[in-house]
Amino acid sequence: MIRFILWFAAAALLVAPAGNGVAQKKTANLVLVTLDGARNQEIFGGLDLEILRSVTEKGRAEDTELYKKYWAATPQARREKTMPFFWGTLMKHHGSIAGNRDVGSTVQVTNKHRFSYPGYSEILTGQAHDDVIDSNDKKRNPYPTVLEFLKRKLGLEAHKVAAFTSWDTLDWIVEHEEGSISSNAGFEPYVHPHPVIQELSKLQFETVTPWDSVRHDVYTFRFAKAHLETFKPRILYLGLGETDDWAHDRRYDRVLGALVRTDNFLKELWEFLQSQDQYRDRTTLLITVDHGRGSTPSDWTKHGKEVEEAQYIWLAVVSPDTDLRGEWTNTPAIYQNQVAATLCRFLGLDYSENNPLAGKPIARLFTE
Ligand SMILES: [Zn+2]
Repeated sequence: MIRFILWFAAAALLVAPAGNGVAQKKTANLVLVTLDGARNQEIFGGLDLEILRSVTEKGRAEDTELYKKYWAATPQARREKTMPFFWGTLMKHHGSIAGNRDVGSTVQVTNKHRFSYPGYSEILTGQAHDDVIDSNDKKRNPYPTVLEFLKRKLGLEAHKVAAFTSWDTLDWIVEHEEGSISSNAGFEPYVHPHPVIQELSKLQFETVTPWDSVRHDVYTFRFAKAHLETFKPRILYLGLGETDDWAHDRRYDRVLGALVRTDNFLKELWEFLQSQDQYRDRTTLLITVDHGRGSTPSDWTKHGKEVEEAQYIWLAVVSPDTDLRGEWTNTPAIYQNQVAATLCRFLGLDYSENNPLAGKPIARLFTE
């Protein structure tokens, strides 16, 4: 009889999680990272020779330092030269990435504008609002964001939901109600007790970029990391910007350099998360982009309504709650408006409470 009861209990345990869509997840923290306008071409293929040729003013592209540093025969080998940690460790052993159309995976924005504010707002609210969000002007987001929803649902204090971003306008996008979360964006002082961080906060104003609205990503990353170490947020959003601005300036060398530095930031972030009890194997990391850009030498610097290719983006997920690894191949298309609901689902929350019209959680992440 006891044996029968034990068998029955064991069978019930085996059966329960499979049939139950709200099975307990391991995720207790979320980290969202965006790389502004980072093209699929470099993410999946590293150095784009056609682009390098178009920006090489003297001699052959094959004789340049960039070629020597980043070229390899296959896209797989090339991308590991710009993002060795992301491809060699993160996507190989811990997570997966969608968006490589060469292997049958597509990620698309649903907004028709294909520039930053509409893209970030689609990520953070789960919906394109093409008629309302149609410029990069510093206007308060008219719609509550997933960051605000999570803060309310989880009953968190403002410093437990933090956004650190290089582009100043993100300050206006990340929250609908000013001051509801912690936001530090663009050239903005960051108050922190550590003397090194205090010094960095001052230095950001001494090391100006060519763009008034975007600070160097290294400051954004250092402040985010300091906040992570000191305040242990449950929800962190890190918005890096240089990949977009150097591309607008046609500085292909700097675009590749920004990807290399971003790879180092991701490595440091991941190693920190895995060293902490609060975060180790309890944190879902989602890395994506606000928009794509053109694919040819004449339009790779651009994006927007007239650039068809800019609708294609990519999305990577590292989570203790999914076993998917490497590249997604031959899968149905997924969309930028699904990010908010996907993040919530990892915490067992239903984002449609905040926005019934938002994209649904990405099914493939929750069925394996
Ligand atoms: Zn952008």
